[in-house]
Amino acid sequence: MAREPLMIDIVNVSKRFGRRDVLRDISLGVPKGKVLALIGPSGSGKSTLLRCVNLLETPDSGSITIDGSTMRFGATASRHRAKAMAAFRAEAGMVFQSFNLFPHMTVLENVMSGPRFVRGQSRDEAERIARPLLERMGMDSFSDAMPERLSGGQKQRVAIARSLAMEPKVMLFDEATSALDPQRVAEILSVMRDLAQAGMTQIVVTHEMSYARDVADTVVFMADGSIVESGPARQVIEDPREERTREFLKHFH
Ligand code: ADP
Ligand code: MG
Repeated sequence: MAREPLMIDIVNVSKRFGRRDVLRDISLGVPKGKVLALIGPSGSGKSTLLRCVNLLETPDSGSITIDGSTMRFGATASRHRAKAMAAFRAEAGMVFQSFNLFPHMTVLENVMSGPRFVRGQSRDEAERIARPLLERMGMDSFSDAMPERLSGGQKQRVAIARSLAMEPKVMLFDEATSALDPQRVAEILSVMRDLAQAGMTQIVVTHEMSYARDVADTVVFMADGSIVESGPARQVIEDPREERTREFLKHFH
């Protein structure tokens, strides 16, 4: 069988903080249009791995490719110019647990901020991108509101719209529902599911195991900076091969 082309290809990525190996030789790939759920205990390196894909952290070694553009890290890598890094970073939109909206800007201005200030597009151009995204997120009636007026779920929908405004090729979600009230979690999961159905390639760090099972194609279980197990979503969640995965999943039943 021919290998599917990978939209995200992480190869032999390692990262230390001081003496601590936070990522140990991590390799994983996500085919175009697929969703990979990354699960594992706190401190296992999930956020650090996502931050490496978005170049918020620099790996010590290895390489990361998004849609054919490769960043190589470590002693043998050539120095990356700021412009190349900015272009690479723009390929991946990232949504965090803690919304991170600009508090002094309206909802619309938040969503326009990337096109305007990162890409230098005009106000009109930015608005033409932002308005349909707010509509898609069900937030168009809040365009002129300040973020402080919004619920957590609404803030997160604006944060997703703001990421999408940069027209990323992949989306990275780092526990995007963890700060939400239980009744708000479903609304964000449904937005993420819609994105998956629209063909957006995603890496999703989540503690929502039923979401991982039902929406992700692949589930990767990490512990102590290493991949312990990866496989088809349903199989890893319902019938894990490794004892450590089984032990971890017990906490969710
Ligand atoms: P997870 O998202 O799976 O909970 P993280 O990637 O946040 O794990 O963290 C993995 C380990 O790396 C933790 O031990 C954490 O304390 C450490 N770590 C994360 N970021 C830094 C940093 N900037 N400096 C030092 N240690 C860090
Ligand atoms: Mg984390």
